[in-house]
Amino acid sequence: MEINFDSKAIIEVISDLVKTPSPSGFTDRVISQIEAYLNELGLPSWRNRKGGLLTALPGQDSSKQRMITAHLDTLGAMVKEVKSDGRLKLSLIGGSRWNHLEGEYCQIFSADQVYTGTILMHQTSVHVYKDAGTAERNSDNMEVRLDEKVESADDVKKLGISVGDFVAFDPRTVITPGGFIKSRHLDDKASAGILLYMIKVIKENNVSLPHTTHILFSNHEEVGYGGNSNVPAEVVEYLAVDMGAIGDGQASDEYSVCICAMDSTGPYNHHLRQRLVELAKAHDLSYKVDIYPNYGSDASAALRAGHDLIHGLIGPGIDASHAFERTHVDAITNTAKLIYYYLLSPIAGD
Ligand SMILES: [Zn+2]
Repeated sequence: MEINFDSKAIIEVISDLVKTPSPSGFTDRVISQIEAYLNELGLPSWRNRKGGLLTALPGQDSSKQRMITAHLDTLGAMVKEVKSDGRLKLSLIGGSRWNHLEGEYCQIFSADQVYTGTILMHQTSVHVYKDAGTAERNSDNMEVRLDEKVESADDVKKLGISVGDFVAFDPRTVITPGGFIKSRHLDDKASAGILLYMIKVIKENNVSLPHTTHILFSNHEEVGYGGNSNVPAEVVEYLAVDMGAIGDGQASDEYSVCICAMDSTGPYNHHLRQRLVELAKAHDLSYKVDIYPNYGSDASAALRAGHDLIHGLIGPGIDASHAFERTHVDAITNTAKLIYYYLLSPIAGD
């Protein structure tokens, strides 16, 4: 069945998701947002114990099933220490670099309030510090300046802010007239938005899938164990939808669906990869096959956890990943289409 892919609608879903703070370990709000979305579609969903969300689309064959995931947790931080001058030291959650956080606005979640601040190097003022430009950005000199009248650790404690409070980075989302989406957390909310849109399309058009398909919105990918559980015994193929990494020597770009051949965890299933390439060719999609040197996915995490699966990884190419991310609507559309045609295809050997 041919479908009109409404790229504007997909981007709206992605924009909504990136605006909801969700560092790994603090994902309840974004998971509730997805739950509400699925609810509106009349789809039941359920949470696993670690807080991820599952739903399923019935298919003609339930003896061989599929699982497809995207992760909703993002990079973030936690208050490590309240300094005597009222600034906050941070511990990072996931693979951020301090220089990618310098100057970023942030939210601090105390037990019952949300505060705002800016992540700065302690020696930022060029009128005061000679080394403002050259000092190493590290956990010792990077700190949060709270938007509150505080001068001491006691002042901060009186606000209710304490060690262990989660900190989320401002996504700063901008959609340009030319179709670029600039935002933090496109990893992996671009993919989660695509999956949500695909669920809607399949449901509203009564598309009949050949295989029952489970969808997992995982919430601990950035710390390594998001999608490694809750895989039903009938699941044969497991596809992670996560960003393609762009840089020197990489094949991935911001306009294509990127099909991962191998990452730091080793090769993805060769037969599944070939099938994804054939589907992309058959439907005239812009695609790239690539290798990611510093990368792991929920699919490889599932294998490492001991699941016996055919595993794959595809996703939109994202520039400057884990930092000032950007992709283009073309990558979003190509990824959505490849997922759609994949879900309509039979599992190999059928
Ligand atoms: Zn990711």
